[in-house]
Amino acid sequence: KPNSPKYHPINDAIWKHQDKVPYNALATTFEEIENISARLKIIEILSNYFRSVIVLTPNDLLPSVYLCLNKLAPAYEGLELGIADMSLMKAIAQSTGRTLAQVRSDNHEIGDLGLVAEKSKTNQRMLMKPARLSVRGVFEKLKDIAKMSGQASQAKKVEKIQSMFVACQGSEARFLIRSLAGKLRIGLAEQSVLQALALACTMTPPNQEYPPKVLNVSKSLSADSFKSEYDNCSLLLKTAYCECPNYEKIIPVILTEGVAKLPEHCKLTPGVPLKPMLAHPTKGVQEVLHRFDGLKFTCEWKYDGERAQIHIDGDNVHIFSRNQENNTTKYPDVISRLNRCKVDDVKSCILDCEAVAWDKENKQILPFQILSTRKRKDAKEADIKVQVCIFMFDLLYLNGEPLVKRPFLDRRKLLKSFFKEIEGEWAFAKSMDTTTMEEVQEYLEESVKGNCEGLMVKTLETDATYEIAKRSHNWLKLKKDYLEGVGDTLDVVVIGGYIGKGRRTGTYGGFLLACYDKDNEEYQSICKIGTGFSDDNLQTHTEFLKKHIISSPKKYYRYDSSLEPDHWFDAVQVWEIKCADLSLSPVHRASLGIVDPEKGISLRFPRFVRVRDDKSVEEATTSQQIAYMYSNQEQVKNSNQNNKVDQ
Ligand code: ATP
Repeated sequence: KPNSPKYHPINDAIWKHQDKVPYNALATTFEEIENISARLKIIEILSNYFRSVIVLTPNDLLPSVYLCLNKLAPAYEGLELGIADMSLMKAIAQSTGRTLAQVRSDNHEIGDLGLVAEKSKTNQRMLMKPARLSVRGVFEKLKDIAKMSGQASQAKKVEKIQSMFVACQGSEARFLIRSLAGKLRIGLAEQSVLQALALACTMTPPNQEYPPKVLNVSKSLSADSFKSEYDNCSLLLKTAYCECPNYEKIIPVILTEGVAKLPEHCKLTPGVPLKPMLAHPTKGVQEVLHRFDGLKFTCEWKYDGERAQIHIDGDNVHIFSRNQENNTTKYPDVISRLNRCKVDDVKSCILDCEAVAWDKENKQILPFQILSTRKRKDAKEADIKVQVCIFMFDLLYLNGEPLVKRPFLDRRKLLKSFFKEIEGEWAFAKSMDTTTMEEVQEYLEESVKGNCEGLMVKTLETDATYEIAKRSHNWLKLKKDYLEGVGDTLDVVVIGGYIGKGRRTGTYGGFLLACYDKDNEEYQSICKIGTGFSDDNLQTHTEFLKKHIISSPKKYYRYDSSLEPDHWFDAVQVWEIKCADLSLSPVHRASLGIVDPEKGISLRFPRFVRVRDDKSVEEATTSQQIAYMYSNQEQVKNSNQNNKVDQ
């Protein structure tokens, strides 16, 4: 049960019923959240703010949620903030009477343009006080700004930013500027926002008349009953969000009909990308057979391309990425030949596929690097040089019916009866149903000869549903390269750089990398890296990262002072790396407290593989995954076994 019994969403709110929520109410909430690191406390504080909004001004719940997430619309609408620092500095300077040089020098010193903005405002005297900002107003203006494009829009953007900035008071300036930069970074991840929303809806049910009869459900329930209500509410919300990641659909349902009605209204819909199912890494055939002992499973080739979720709804076709971005205009060629791969009976569907670069002459798969040379948006079919073949591996929705709860065996049957293969354009993922070690091993080798990364091994009948948004044990990945290593590559965030010496003078020579801890919303150092880079790589990384230098580490970075880099970077880029193995470390902080109370985990012999542009920093490998990979190593398992025997 939350422990703030005194909080009352009506009496304690700083605005009245039906008033627009003042931006100050949200800024104060952000300020509190920024000052604490305990996740449960953060959820409670935010839920109290949401409760006030739900009771007093429900129409402001949607803009509030978006501002908390620093988003403006669902990912697939591609409406993003991220105004360049220079434009923001200009707006700050012009509206406070300071010079650009002063603002820039403060920014260099403080390393947080939000704080610079707040400081600049305190020096400013106002003759006339402009009207206070509202949550709704700020959100609408941010949207307007994000929609402006073209050369001439720069001045208009600065003007619009100024019009809000002059009205800021106190910490409002800090959060407004950070939101505009697209870096709110107060340690509030999407999962916490969803959790806070669930807690608010459990405490104060949203679909009530005003004044509401029930302001605090927890008063009338035992701790156990309250917890089960909260868990249920959280599950409903998270499921709705996974199937239909669009707050514009979810929030109105919550407000008018209540959370219980979410499954009816916010479910799988062609046109709305869902969060994909992901796989668990394994280190060898033995582990696969051990995990799937007694279960029927299939081995599919694991193609090295780009995930493509193809949605068809009548004449509307969309292709979405792994992260729900709209890739439709990247693949006009795929869309124009769509009719050839499906039978006429298909009216609506969602296909899960991998788009892979294809060599037409030699009729073979090309490496991922070739695919990445394709234009990302607004491609013209006539200009396309790299042909793709779409490898279909799952069918999630067909003619009005979601299939995700059905076993894979059924989904695969439907996929194969409603869709057709066309050489070099459409193919089913190559697969083999087997249970013998030798056959899996042979098939793995065959897949690598066929230019694939290895196998995806999937359950067919039991435990074989499509688990939306989950890294599921029903799918195991078996990658050839890493069989003797740790089973998988890792995707980690670059947080610091060490200036290069000798041949590497003028660029960084090494970097400090971190994994992401989802529970505490922090980046924990995992290793230093200096290998795997070409000279060109180093040049490109240096140029990119120099734009993201910050003067001091973020409060959500965990590291030992002995690792202090020459430059700290904002957490903006994910790198895929390989390593020989994982070991306990007295200096690195990854997974600290999970497998050892005092030691973290670090990577031995890390090598750079590539930049993961398709992953955001919150999608980096988590400390929980790192702990799992560490404990899953043969020598660690053996030594745990021995310890047990010793005891
Ligand atoms: P993760 O977060 O799991 O590291 P990732 O993007 O790095 O994700 P991998 O774990 O390497 O990807 O593998 C899963 C990806 O493999 C899927 O997202 C999909 O794009 C791709 N893939 C290729 N072939 C298949 C297949 N037959 N079945 C499922 N996924 C496949």
